[in-house]
Amino acid sequence: MFSTMQDVPLTVARILAHGSTVHGRATVTTWDGTGPVTRTYAELGARAAQLAYALRDELGVTPEHVVGTLMWNNADHMEAYLAVPAMGSVLHTLNLRLAPAQLAYIVNHAADHAIIVNGSVLPLLAGVLPQLAPTLKHIVVSGPGDLSLLAGFAGTVHEYEQLIAGRPTEYPWEEEIDERRPAMICYTSGTTGDPKGVVYSHRSIYLHCLQVNSAATFALTPQDTALPVVPMFHVGAWGIPHAAFMSGANLLMPDRFLQPQPLATMIDLVKPTVSGAVPTIWNGLLDELDHPTARETPYDTSSLRMVVIGGSACPPALMRGFEERHGIRLVHAWGMTETSPLGTFALPPAGLSADEEWAYRVTQGVFPASVEARLTGPGGERMPHDGVSAGELEVRGPWIAGAYYGGAGQDPERPEDKFSEDGWLRTGDVGTITPDGFLTLTDRAKDVIKSGGEWISSVELENHLMAHQEVLEAAVVAVPDEKWGERPLAAVVLRPGATVDLPGLRAFLAGRVASWQLPERWSLVAAVPKTSVGKFDKKVIRAEYAAGLLDVTVLGKE
Ligand code: AMP
Repeated sequence: MFSTMQDVPLTVARILAHGSTVHGRATVTTWDGTGPVTRTYAELGARAAQLAYALRDELGVTPEHVVGTLMWNNADHMEAYLAVPAMGSVLHTLNLRLAPAQLAYIVNHAADHAIIVNGSVLPLLAGVLPQLAPTLKHIVVSGPGDLSLLAGFAGTVHEYEQLIAGRPTEYPWEEEIDERRPAMICYTSGTTGDPKGVVYSHRSIYLHCLQVNSAATFALTPQDTALPVVPMFHVGAWGIPHAAFMSGANLLMPDRFLQPQPLATMIDLVKPTVSGAVPTIWNGLLDELDHPTARETPYDTSSLRMVVIGGSACPPALMRGFEERHGIRLVHAWGMTETSPLGTFALPPAGLSADEEWAYRVTQGVFPASVEARLTGPGGERMPHDGVSAGELEVRGPWIAGAYYGGAGQDPERPEDKFSEDGWLRTGDVGTITPDGFLTLTDRAKDVIKSGGEWISSVELENHLMAHQEVLEAAVVAVPDEKWGERPLAAVVLRPGATVDLPGLRAFLAGRVASWQLPERWSLVAAVPKTSVGKFDKKVIRAEYAAGLLDVTVLGKE
């Protein structure tokens, strides 16, 4: 037997210990609506220790417990990001854009013992309190908020600053934690049915951080200031917060100020070098940079060396607009909650002409060594990576989910059809891969619509519509939308003699789903096209819409 290397656990505790000492001078700056508020990584480390003591000694949090966060991107959220996993417990980032029923579902499913919530989000939490299971014992409120909203809560309410004040600032972080233990949970609603929990391990987070920091992707260094606009409740803000803490890059946190004007202002003033968000955000920002709403002079965005765009397909015109009019380089990337999310990153190979480079940059990008990819044809056959043959994308690697979280009382290993028998993740995305490894997505196998970075379930809309007595069939598909990336289009077949009209159907739906999920585009059709096995053939509906063959009525504002 050879003796090889030391087997040292790769943990969030290590990232915390390193960042708060070696990079103690680096800063996290939170935008408070009017200006920046800054904390050093050393202060963050000390406050994370105080938070860990408070959670352990006051709230009784043990390594078996899950601690939820219902927070925007800010310094307090960063403290939870570090402290909760580093003390050996599990951080559950709650998506504050979920419909109340789904929010309650994920809190209960993960059995959150405590939730740390921003004061500004209290009304949302208060609204779901009656649906929360008694497993939730504590609510910790960070920042100003109306605590009386929590009057009906049977557990204990704490105020963040009071809770951590006066506690020791050094904690015996569990550096010897088993690296395969769970560190974070994030639920995805990007599949049909209930949201599914994706559980990141310490090891997966650590390895993913190394990738985020590598020159093949964000290449974060202490010279950088990273602005994660992508929410910390969505796939760990793409790993940027942990990766910045590891590399000593400063962080600029936008809190809830994600609108184009405050974003442009904070970029102008705080001068981030790197950022990441979904296309809808960058679309809005481009408009603000082109036509500033409340100032005479252009914004100074010259600090930005790279802006990463992903979560939905990047329109090439957006990329060109940023580059040609503002000198800002957009880089396209693909990933999923299940992939931590770094899957592909579209940095072109060296030695190409400008036109050749563009051809690479508009693809979804190339997989890093740690993420293997394959394409599966409709009959289960492997498709060649020839840049032409399309198939469903399957991936595997050390930061790719191997299963969904089964949750309390269920079998956590329950296999799902998202995972192939030989252990690959079926992404539901359909595309091609070139011989040199660049992915282009052409379609998707799953029945969901991505609007402004958030999922809308077409199945849910269809189910509601088909529950209407005068509706025979309804199919909802994603159609391209300039502002939101995609929006739902409803194609409806009415029963003979039906009296309801399209505005009536929209009003019917309005009482049943969140208002931002309501389709604007409606079409009455004679029949919904079907596949050979009788399923709605959504590809055909999308193609008919694209070709202008559908008679579409627009209701509400587009
Ligand atoms: P989520 O788990 O919410 O992050 O959503 C992941 C899904 O978003 C992927 O499976 C794709 O369908 C879609 N997606 C992410 N990035 C891209 C991209 N660059 N181009 C097209 N679709 C994307």
